Parts: sequence; structure tokens; C-alpha cells
Amino acid sequence: MKTIGFAAYDTETPLAPFEFERRGLRPNDVAMEILYCGVCHSDLHTARNDWGWSYYPIVPGHEIVGRVTQVGPSVSGFKVGDHVAVGCMVDSCQECDQCKKGEEQLCREGMTGTYAGYDRVTKEPTQGGYSKHLVVREEFCLSVSDKLDLAKAAPLLCAGITTWSPLKTWNVGAGSRVGVIGLGGLGHMAVKLAVGLGADVTVISRTKDKEADALALGANRLLASSDSDAMSDAANHFDLIIDTVPVKHDLMPYLALLDVDATLVLVGQVGPLDEISTVPLLMGRRRVAGSPIGGIKETQELLDFCAEKNILPDCEMIRMDEINEAFERMEKADVRYRFVIDMASLAAPATA
Ligand code: NAP
Ligand code: ZN
Repeated sequence: MKTIGFAAYDTETPLAPFEFERRGLRPNDVAMEILYCGVCHSDLHTARNDWGWSYYPIVPGHEIVGRVTQVGPSVSGFKVGDHVAVGCMVDSCQECDQCKKGEEQLCREGMTGTYAGYDRVTKEPTQGGYSKHLVVREEFCLSVSDKLDLAKAAPLLCAGITTWSPLKTWNVGAGSRVGVIGLGGLGHMAVKLAVGLGADVTVISRTKDKEADALALGANRLLASSDSDAMSDAANHFDLIIDTVPVKHDLMPYLALLDVDATLVLVGQVGPLDEISTVPLLMGRRRVAGSPIGGIKETQELLDFCAEKNILPDCEMIRMDEINEAFERMEKADVRYRFVIDMASLAAPATA
């Protein structure tokens, strides 16, 4: 099927329209019209090739909400007209121990990214959700409850699951003391979800500028990392810190905030950090960990949790042709708190 999207053509020039083919339906495939797509900082990293694995043209977008337009003959879970969602993965081996546990994001063969991946059958590059249509195998398609506002649900598919998964891994519940470094797309979802689980939540931002927002999102307080007295007062305070900072940074000021046996989990920056000392790790049996997105089953649990608790991201809706300005604003941390593209703003190709 012919479709249209917005692609990065190289590391520098603005994203621009791109016509391309979506694969024909396989028996276990679901085809959808994309209604909304969230704008993740990973999209920007990928457009710029910050991680070294981009190809061009590349269509970013992995926070996708759509409506089913067609299903293959062996699809059993979806029908035409259903509201569905797709996140950061579109395939995995489905055979290994991790896939069998529902942790496809940890697939031993490597999961297939919604973009910056290669189709397991055709080996063609995958293209993401900044586009009008998508074809995906049934196992990587999620149901979106009618209780969720479709226009706002998209960021749950990456910002939501990426912060939900560590909250579940480290058993956050009533009374857990959770810190969230960086109040952006991931950070604001971490706050809402941790609050939803009953935790005591502190936003750790560079300045006090976002304090009123942090409190409005449900956080108990905001700690400015630039305020050394406040940072000293918060020493040994946290059970779990989720670090969403997208660039190389120094962990040492944050490690001092962890209690004995506590964990700082990195979900943001990919690549080398500034050098750290092992002293706070050894002396307090503290841990630094990492976490990639989450499994499909866990993502469905998150969508159901958000539908039940009425938790939704704070979204700023944009048109597809406003994406380059949105990228610029995201780089300046000027987004409150997730851009979402209304795909009705992108005309389908005449012969689609
Ligand atoms: P975002 O909306 O741009 O938010 C990042 C936040 O980090 C900013 O709002 C800002 O918060 C803080 N920040 C920005 N630049 C900083 C700097 N130079 N030093 C310190 N703090 C800084 O980005 P996002 O969409 O939440 O994504 C965050 C990161 O997570 C990206 O690197 C993205 O690629 C990654 N990611 C990882 C996964 C995964 O599976 N692990 C999934 C999705 C995204 P303050 O203004 O409050 O300081
Ligand atoms: Zn993402």
C-alpha cells in the first residue's frame, strides 16, 4: 500500500514529506490508519543519528494510535474499526525465553524497532508512525479502551511504558520514595504513574521553573539539582530514581540521593556517562541500572491501568508540518509535556 509520511533525509535538514510503500498484509497482520502519533526525544536522536544506527530516509514515530482498516485471515484479536496502538516494537523472535515471558523488548535475537529496524521477513528498513498508515503483526498491536481519550493516549506507548516498567520492576507502591530526573515527556509520565501507584514523588529538575507544573502533575515536591543545599538535604532519601536525561551527564550528585539498597535506573541517554566513583555504590549497596521500554503484556497492563485510573499525558497537539519546530522546542526542554501529531493534518496519497 502506498502511504505518506514525514522523514528525515539526513542528519541535518528538516523532516519533509516522503511517499513510500507499506508491506502487503500477511495472514497475521493488522493494517491501520494512524490517527495520532506522539513525538519522543528518541525520534529526534534518530533523525540526527545520535546513536549511529539510523538510515535515510527514516520516518520516526513510535507512539501510535490508529483505527484498524483491514486484518489478515489468521488475526483473531482485532477487527476493522477497532482502536489500536503500536509502540516501539513491531516484531521479535517469539521463541526465546524472554519473548516467551512476554519481555519481547529483551528478545535474544533483538526486537524489531518500529523504525530504525529491519523487517524480519523482507529485511527492509522499518518506518515509523509519522505517517498515514501502518501494517503490523497482531502480536505487537494493542487494544485501546474506549475509556481513554484517543488523542492523548499515544504517549503511553513509549513515555508511559518506559517509565511504568521500572516502577513495576522495582515494586513501587504506596509509600515508595521515587525521584524523577528531568521533567519532560518520560518524566511527566513517571510522575503521574508513580503517583497513581501511591508513591511519594519528587521531581528532580535543573531549576525551580517547573515547580508549579510538578505539583499540578501530582508530585509532592520539586528538588532543583542546581541548588546544592537542597541536594544535600535530600541525601539518602530515595528508594528508586528514574533518570530521563537525554544527554551525557554526571550521576554523582544523584547517587548521593539514593538510600541504602536503592536503585538509580537510567532510561534516557544512550552511550557513555561522565565517570562515576564506585564509593556510593559499594558503601550503600546501591545500584545503577538501565531499562528499555517494556513488554507487550506489560504495555497492555499499563493501558488498562491508565484507563481505570484516568491517567493521561499532558499533550500539545501539532500538525505534521509543525514537526521541525516541535523538535527545536523539545531540544530546549520547552514542551509541556508531549507533542502529539494529529495525523488528520497529513493528506493521504491519492492512490492509497
Ligand atoms: P524530553 O521530553 O526532551 O525530556 C527530557 C528532560 O530531561 C527535559 O525536559 C529536561 O528536564 C531534562 N534535560 C534536558 N536536557 C538536559 C541536560 N542537558 N541536562 C540535564 N537535564 C536535561 O525527552 P523524553 O522524550 O522524555 O526522552 C528522554 C530520554 O529518554 C531521551 O534520551 C530518549 O531517547 C530516551 N528514551 C528511552 C527509552 C527507553 O526505552 N529507555 C524510551 C523512550 C525514550 P528539566 O527541564 O526538568 O531539567
Ligand atoms: Zn520513545
